[in-house]
Amino acid sequence: MRPRRLRTVFGLTLLTVFQLAVSQLSVSQLTAEVRTLTILHTNDLHSRLTPLANHHGGFANLATVIRDQQKGCTDCILLNAGDLAQGSPVSTIYKAAPVFEIANLFGFDAFTLGNHDFDYGWQQTRNFIQMSKYPMVSANVVDAQNHTLTPQPWLILKVNGLRVGIIGAMTDNLRYLTTTALLGEWHTTPVVETVRRYVTELRPQTDLIVVLAHIGPEEEKAFLAEPNVPVIVSGHLHNGMDHAQTTPDHILVRVKGYGEQLGRLELKVDTATKSVTSFTWKPILIDADTTKPAPDVAALVKVWEDKVAEVVDHPLATAKRQLPKAEVRTLLEQAMIQASGADFAFMNSGGVRDILPQGQLLVRHVWNIMPFDNRVSWGVFKGRDLPDIIKKDRQIDPEKDYKLAVPDFVAANQEAPDTLHTKGLKFEGDSGLLRDALETLIRNRKVIE
Ligand SMILES: [Zn+2]
Repeated sequence: MRPRRLRTVFGLTLLTVFQLAVSQLSVSQLTAEVRTLTILHTNDLHSRLTPLANHHGGFANLATVIRDQQKGCTDCILLNAGDLAQGSPVSTIYKAAPVFEIANLFGFDAFTLGNHDFDYGWQQTRNFIQMSKYPMVSANVVDAQNHTLTPQPWLILKVNGLRVGIIGAMTDNLRYLTTTALLGEWHTTPVVETVRRYVTELRPQTDLIVVLAHIGPEEEKAFLAEPNVPVIVSGHLHNGMDHAQTTPDHILVRVKGYGEQLGRLELKVDTATKSVTSFTWKPILIDADTTKPAPDVAALVKVWEDKVAEVVDHPLATAKRQLPKAEVRTLLEQAMIQASGADFAFMNSGGVRDILPQGQLLVRHVWNIMPFDNRVSWGVFKGRDLPDIIKKDRQIDPEKDYKLAVPDFVAANQEAPDTLHTKGLKFEGDSGLLRDALETLIRNRKVIE
C-alpha cells in the first residue's frame, strides 16, 4: 500500500511540475525576451565645476562625454548617485544652488541624494529637489511621519521596451556624516530593509531593478548579498573601480568622484527572469586636455566662476611639491593650533577634501581643501579626559589641563567613526573659520616645502 501511495503522490507531483513547466514555457515564449539597457552614471561630482589639478573632469567636459556616449544610443539612461553639492567655492558661497542649476543641463534620468547634499541644511536640500528638472529618488530619508523627502522613493523608467525600477538609497551613516541641526527631523530608515520592502513592491511592475545608492563599503557588501537586486549603481566612495563588483546575481558599479570619470554599463536583460544575462562595464576618463567643453555648460560655469574669482583667485604662496591629503591633514591641525593656541588639534580625515597642488597656490586651493564652513572649536580638558586618539603616543599628565582644538563638525560628532571615538566633551571656545586658519598658515609660510 505504502509504496504505491508514495508512487502516486510522486507521479502527481511530477505531473504537476511538468504541467507547470509547460505553462511557464508557453507564457515565457509569448512574452519573455532579452533586451539591452545601457546605464551611464556619475557619483560624487562635488561641485567641481572646473577641471582638477590633474587635468581630469570639469562639468563642461563631462557634459561633452555624456552627450558623445548618448549619440545614437536608444537604450541609454543617465543616473547620478549623489553628493553633487559641496567641494568648491561656488558651492560654499552660493550654497550649491548654481551647481544644481548647471546639472540640469546633464539631463539625468534619475538622481539620488548624498550626505553632502544636506550640508546647507535640509531646507536647501528641498530647494535642490524643487530646482532639479530630473526626478530625485531616496527611499529611506524620511521625517517623523515616515514621509520621504524626495517626492517618490523610486521611479520606473521605460527604455527600449524595458520597465526599469530605480530605487534611491542613502547610507545609514547619514547621522554621523552631518549634524542634527542640518538634518532637522529627517533621518534614515535601515537602508537594506527599506530597499527590500520596495523591491517586493516594484518587482511585479518592472523588468529590472536598479538600486541607485549613496552608501558605504559595508552596505555595498550587504546589497551584493541581497536577493532580487541585480544592479547597484553606487556612490559615496570616491576612488572608483577597475572592474565591476559581481556575484552570480549582482553587478555593482561606481566611478571616481569629482567628475573624473563617467561609467558605462551595458546590460542584456532577460525579462522572464528579470535578471541580467550578460554585461560589460567601463569607466570613461574625462580628460580635460583632449575634450572639447560643451558650450552651454561652459557658459554657465563661467558665469558662476567669474563671480567667485574675485574672492578666491588671489596668489597665496608657492608649493615646492604636491602634498597628499594625509599631509594636508597635518597642515590643517597646525592651522588650528596656530589659530587657537591649543596644545593639540585633531582633524577628521574625511574633512580633507583635496590635495595641495605643486606650484602657485591660490586662495581657491584652500577652499577646495576646506569647502565646509567648519569653525575651529576648542576646549580645555584634564589629561585623563582626553580621547585615546589624542593621547596615543604623547606623554600626557593625567592631572594637567590641555587645550584641544577640533573642527566644530568633530565637536558635534564625537562618536562618529572618523572622529574622536568619545562623547560628552564640551568644546566651548571658537577661533573662527578653519578655512581662514589654513589660509593664514599658508600665507605666512610663503613657501610650502
Ligand atoms: Zn557621500
